[in-house]
Amino acid sequence: MTTFTVQHTLFALGSFFSQPASPKAVQAPQWIAFNQTLAEQLQLPADLHATETGLGVWSGNQVPNWAQPRAHAYAGHQFGNLVPQLGDGRALLLAEVTDRNGKRWDIQLKGAGPTAFSRGGDGRSAIGPVLREYLLSETMFVLGVPTTRALAAVASGELVFRDQGGVPGAVFTRVASSHLRIGSFQFASLHGGAEKVKQLADYAIARHYPELTETAEGNRYLAFLHAVAMRQAELVSQWLRVGFIHGVMNTDNTSICGETIDYGPAAFLDVYHPQKVFSSIDRRGRYAFNSQPAIAQWNLARLAECLLPLLVAEHEQEDENSAKSAREDAIALATRVLDDYSERAQALWISTMGAKLGIEQPHSEDDSLIQDFLVLLQSHEIDYTQAFWQLANELTDSSAAGGPEAPAVNLFAEPEKYLAWRHCWLQRLEQNQRPVEETISAMRSVNPALIPRNHRIAEAITEVEESGSLQRFYTLLNAWQTPYNMPSNELELELYQAPSKEEEVQRTFCGT
Ligand code: AMP
Ligand code: MG
Repeated sequence: MTTFTVQHTLFALGSFFSQPASPKAVQAPQWIAFNQTLAEQLQLPADLHATETGLGVWSGNQVPNWAQPRAHAYAGHQFGNLVPQLGDGRALLLAEVTDRNGKRWDIQLKGAGPTAFSRGGDGRSAIGPVLREYLLSETMFVLGVPTTRALAAVASGELVFRDQGGVPGAVFTRVASSHLRIGSFQFASLHGGAEKVKQLADYAIARHYPELTETAEGNRYLAFLHAVAMRQAELVSQWLRVGFIHGVMNTDNTSICGETIDYGPAAFLDVYHPQKVFSSIDRRGRYAFNSQPAIAQWNLARLAECLLPLLVAEHEQEDENSAKSAREDAIALATRVLDDYSERAQALWISTMGAKLGIEQPHSEDDSLIQDFLVLLQSHEIDYTQAFWQLANELTDSSAAGGPEAPAVNLFAEPEKYLAWRHCWLQRLEQNQRPVEETISAMRSVNPALIPRNHRIAEAITEVEESGSLQRFYTLLNAWQTPYNMPSNELELELYQAPSKEEEVQRTFCGT
């Protein structure tokens, strides 16, 4: 039996952290997509599925009695600049629901109209970014990368006006473990001080790190910072594994629970380049592919600053002198956590990239083997996904000339340097204790064959914008659900292909 369980715990924190907001009805809602599997996991009653009632609710046209729509207040560093007040300008939280496994999730409408935090924006979403977030987040999920999910997408039947003129609008329903961000803590710190930071930290700990409630209060907030840092390290290492570039790693887009959030201009690498940037607004390459681990650490430092007053006990801060030394102690503690982050990020890089190369027990000395392979990909302009996928074929007796069954060597027009590297690699694999078949399947489980390639997403969006047809979108959504399988049918073989120079997408846009 399913029990639809609804809570409003963020709202219970008070009006400092969120403001009431009503969705603004749209003219002619029409289904784009509904995630039936997720709906069942969330134990949503059947009338909230892809039905007339569902259409009303997931377009924002009807506010059901179990919802208490509110917009969350947060601040954030955008491209390094502090904006003291951002907040949900085009999103509103409907409720928190408990899934089959007892886990609580936020349900949020995106593009359902303006809120107290819209800062002059229309609170709407264009259909392009909605389709993009749907495809990216659902594919990230099956790729095994922590992410927010897509529950529903509804076309609004209205135009929204953006740089390129009027484009069809849509409302997206996002599901997340929560929408707490580093920016939420910055907001609390800037506008409410230590007391509000503590209130939010206690809330975040209870919700995402309940094991820390057992930790003595004196250490709890440091342990919290540490736990958030470890999840960020894990998340970013997964991004690097699949070739994902978030594109807007602002502190307001950094989730406290370690999920990928806010897909804006996010994109996957085609050809490998460590400094690859897609986002049109990232002019200086702040959020380039390889910079992501260091940026996550920078963001964590911003969280640490908010938590500083909680890191040492109050009685240690009584007079001016002791307050000063208490602050210094707090900074030293936080710095240690940031150092732990670096260490963890480096260790995860070795283990993740080593696993991609089929190394059974990667260790720090494998660093140069990994780096050398990446340098080869960069200098020969090789596709990141294909290179790792086809590397496993070097361990089979495949004689395929091209495509997903061909060995990696066939990707190199001038293979000499690659062959020298391959020699070292095969030698290293001799240390594996497992049979070669297991190495191949281990490689297949961490190296996807299919990724949501930018040019394919762009084609699907163009098709919708030009003809209203969602055919390509559905085709992609479906085909990308099995990214680790050997591509076999005609469609999968086509989706395996890297873009030609003409097809390659160079720029992606927030599309807000
Ligand atoms: P994002 O780039 O999606 O992370 O958004 C950054 C900030 O701009 C957030 O506070 C958003 O709520 C706000 N924002 C983005 N687009 C809109 C819009 N169309 N209307 C109102 N606020 C928006
Ligand atoms: Mg955002």
